[in-house]
Amino acid sequence: MRSKLIAGNWKMHGTIKETRKLILQLAVEWKKSCEQVEVLVCPPFTSLIVARHELEMSHIKLGAQNCFTGIDGAYTGEISATMLAEIGCSYVIVGHSERRTIFAETDDLVSRKVRSVLDAKLNAIVCIGESEAQRTSGETEAVLSRQLKGSLAGLSASDIVSVTIAYEPVWAIGTGKTASPEVAETAHRFVRSELETLFPGTSENVRILYGGSIKAENAVSLFSQPNIDGGLVGGASLDAEGFIDIIQAAVSL
Ligand code: PEP
Repeated sequence: MRSKLIAGNWKMHGTIKETRKLILQLAVEWKKSCEQVEVLVCPPFTSLIVARHELEMSHIKLGAQNCFTGIDGAYTGEISATMLAEIGCSYVIVGHSERRTIFAETDDLVSRKVRSVLDAKLNAIVCIGESEAQRTSGETEAVLSRQLKGSLAGLSASDIVSVTIAYEPVWAIGTGKTASPEVAETAHRFVRSELETLFPGTSENVRILYGGSIKAENAVSLFSQPNIDGGLVGGASLDAEGFIDIIQAAVSL
């Protein structure tokens, strides 16, 4: 049985002071450890040290939103997974659609980032998802299949235990347009079957998160789908009360 993961992606939001405040609010509400639900927050790089300190006494885990490949080197402006491990992260989000679209990240680059994350003994949350135009033209499965294959290239079945997939339809991110539970479940089922083809015998153990305008109001119906193992939450994770309600939705199932 897969436990659920509820991850907050705070994107480029929040000063150190604001991050500390948000984390303190969350930590007060989420003191318990719960076997069924793992909670993760991914603040901007500048807040990671402070976040790690504030999270010390809580069961909330810390993650980063991106990294570069390798351990160190002449890569001005970049941060490696090894550095993120040193700072106390346990997860790194890789291949978010904003990085794929705005920063032109390819599946090949994403796969090399995933390798670095796993080499640093961290967990990778690998994002995939179709655009609105791709869905309309019936390409959803082809896109998901291509992104999965490309982003996980070079991994072995034993690597897959440290990988979580986030299905994030691009048309649902930050738009308020959530995929219906049926649409999301269909995509998740497809992703799981593709994983089984790529890494036989592993797919039942891989968590597949849904992301795209999750709110407290739609969380239960999404998380109760058999192949939806939690959520990657953007906007709604910036509000402590709203994020806790989403976590509680997962706990209630
Ligand atoms: C995201 O960016 O990963 C995301 C899911 O954003 P939102 O919840 O705001 O749609």
